[in-house]
Amino acid sequence: MHPLFDLTGKVAMVTGAGTGLGAGMSKGLAGAGADLLLVDRIDTDETAKDIQTMGRKAMSLAADLSTLPAIEEVVRKGIEKFGHIDILINNAGIIRRTPAIDFSEKDWDDVMAVNAKTVFFMCQTVGRDMMKRKSGKIINIASLLAFSGGITVPSYAASKGAVAQITKALANEWAQHGLNINAIAPGYMVTNNTANLRKDPERTKSINERIPAGRWGMPEDLQGAAIFLASKASDYVNGHVLLVDGGWMAR
Ligand code: NAP
Repeated sequence: MHPLFDLTGKVAMVTGAGTGLGAGMSKGLAGAGADLLLVDRIDTDETAKDIQTMGRKAMSLAADLSTLPAIEEVVRKGIEKFGHIDILINNAGIIRRTPAIDFSEKDWDDVMAVNAKTVFFMCQTVGRDMMKRKSGKIINIASLLAFSGGITVPSYAASKGAVAQITKALANEWAQHGLNINAIAPGYMVTNNTANLRKDPERTKSINERIPAGRWGMPEDLQGAAIFLASKASDYVNGHVLLVDGGWMAR
C-alpha cells in the first residue's frame, strides 16, 4: 500500500456502522489498516465480525446519538477502549419523505436533530480530543441534497445543506490546529435509506436516466473517498465536500 493511504495504527469511529454506507466505509478503513469503533442504534456485530476477519480490531458501541449526553458517553467509551480517536465519520442519518405541504413538525425536528445537530456535537466532542493531539480527520456524510433541494424531503435537504456548512465552518476554525474536516456527498446508493424510493418505478426511471455511470452506487463505492479523507493523502484538503455520485452533479 502507498504510505500516504496507510491507516495502520489509526483508530476510526464510524456512526451508523451497522448497515449501508457506514458498514461499507468501516470495512474500507479496516482494509487500509485502521481499528474501528462501530457506533449505531442497530446491531453492528456483523460489521465487527467482518473487520476482525480482516485482522483489525473492532468494538461495537450501541447508542442512540439523538442527545448530547449519549454523544459524550459513546465518545468517552471509545477513547477509554482504544486510547484516542484519529478518524471520525459522521454517517448516521435518517430521512422522512412527505410532500412539503403536509410535512410535520416531528419529521422536521427528528431529521434535523440527527442529521445536523448530532453531526455538529459529534465533531465538537471528538474534536476536543483531536485538538489536544493536534491531529485528526473528520468526515461528515452529506448528500446530493447539500447542493439541490430534492423532492418531498425538505428537512433532509435542509439538514444536508447544514452538514456542508458545518464542515466548512469547522475547517475554518480547526485546520490551523492540525485537523482536517471534510465531507462526502454520496449520490444515489443502494441502502435502506433509499429502499422506499427504489420501489417507485417513475422516480427510479428518471434517476437512472441521469446517472452518467449508468448505475446506483454501492456502499463499497465510498471506500476510496473515505480512505483518502482519513489518510495523510488529504492533509492539505480542508472544508471540501467530495461528490461520489457516478457523475450525477455533472449533468
Ligand atoms: P441506512 O442504511 O439507513 O443506515 C443509517 C444507519 O444510521 C442506520 O443503522 C440507522 O439506524 C443509524 N442511525 C440513524 N439515526 C441514528 C441515531 N440517532 N443514533 C444512532 N444511529 C442512528 O442509511 P445509509 O444510506 O447507509 O446512509 C448513511 C448516511 O449516508 C446518511 O447520513 C444518509 O443521509 C447518507 N446518504 C445516503 C444516500 C443513499 O443514497 N443511501 C445518499 C446520500 C447520503 P436506524 O435504522 O435505526 O435508523
